[in-house]
Amino acid sequence: MIWDVIVIGVGGMGSATAYELAARGHKVLALEQHNIPHDLGASHGINRMIRLAYAEDPRYIPMLRRAYRLWRELGKTIGERLLFITGGIDAGAEDSWIVRGSLQACIEHKLKFETLTARELHQRFPGFRLPKTMVAVYQSQGGFVLSERSIVANVSLALDLGAEIHAREPVVDWRVERGKVIVRTDRASYRGARLVITAGPWIAHVVKRLRGVVKPERQVLLWAQPKRPELFEMGQFPVFYMQDGDEKFYGLPIYGTPGFKFGKYNHLKEQVDPDTMDRECHANDEEALRKGIRKFFPDADGPTIATKTCLFSNTSDENFILDLHPDFSQVAIAAGFSGHGFKFCPVVGEIMADLALDGGSKSYDLGLFKLDRLIG
Ligand SMILES: Cc1cc2nc3c(=O)[nH]c(=O)nc-3n(C[C@H](O)[C@H](O)[C@H](O)COP(=O)(O)OP(=O)(O)OC[C@H]3O[C@@H](n4cnc5c(N)ncnc54)[C@H](O)[C@@H]3O)c2cc1C
Repeated sequence: MIWDVIVIGVGGMGSATAYELAARGHKVLALEQHNIPHDLGASHGINRMIRLAYAEDPRYIPMLRRAYRLWRELGKTIGERLLFITGGIDAGAEDSWIVRGSLQACIEHKLKFETLTARELHQRFPGFRLPKTMVAVYQSQGGFVLSERSIVANVSLALDLGAEIHAREPVVDWRVERGKVIVRTDRASYRGARLVITAGPWIAHVVKRLRGVVKPERQVLLWAQPKRPELFEMGQFPVFYMQDGDEKFYGLPIYGTPGFKFGKYNHLKEQVDPDTMDRECHANDEEALRKGIRKFFPDADGPTIATKTCLFSNTSDENFILDLHPDFSQVAIAAGFSGHGFKFCPVVGEIMADLALDGGSKSYDLGLFKLDRLIG
């Protein structure tokens, strides 16, 4: 049998791609090395922020608008809410990268926003205690999506549509032979007309050309039981992204577990191999996060409820890779999401289906995501 498309990796991006391909009527086989879902990759930890005021680059905003729509549709189709709107705060010094970028995105794309002083922010959301030197941009469409639940949703819908999905079946290697793709796992070999690789932090294990181009980085998440939980509950507290000098923090209101979720972007800046990475959370990991909580959210600085390690997959410019393999036009790659990809999962699913089936996208300019900017 020849599959229309084989997908390697069933995390955030692979599950969305498998569903999209199955929804377009194609015969899909998706292969995952671990359980579905699991907590060893990039997509676990209950939820991920979604923001429209995109400080990273306003060119992401057309994809974001589509993402909001697709998240709502996916929730409706599966009969489960996957997108939660809480409002979003981007905070920092007036001339910080985050504040300038967020304002630029709002202005360029005519998004409604408010700028708040640290005092006004505290009045509106008393959980925040930022110094006077910081300001905040409030954008009402910020919120979060449920990560593991959305993987399960995509996989369930793809299965209903006839896709075949195998967990706990690592891909050992793949090759192109007489125009067809041969994918070998620890159990079998499969033939496909097209291959989509969405291997997350393992991408360089699966696509050797990406060694040193996509760098996996260890992250740590903390859920702290607030001393005043009422200040960090849904409805009382928004998602936020903030910059303090060269440190960036993010956090989400209490959801799914009785803790305020807090993270430090790039954590301790540790490049790792996902197969050998230290997955324990140590005192120094927690201290790096507690420092930020004590400084900006003292009412959240209560006992720990959980910590978890996770992985970013960074490119040098922190933009994604959404492209065909440089040597094989049958093979499409989605990688290098650099810690900000999850919110785009359903759009990446569409783009990967377009790349695999048509070799390009009619809906988006994928120039920002081309691989040759990184490998020359
Ligand atoms: C702590 C943390 C916080 C984040 N916060 C946000 C946020 O707020 N908002 C946001 O938009 N993004 C956020 N991100 C980024 C986002 O979560 C990632 O961009 C996204 O999860 C990447 O999905 P993926 O499918 O590429 O990777 P994964 O979900 O890891 O999927 C890759 C899959 O491929 C499988 N695989 C790899 N190799 C093989 C093989 N040989 N055979 C079979 N299967 C294989 C893996 O097991 C894995 O399941 C965050 C990331 C982290 C770590």
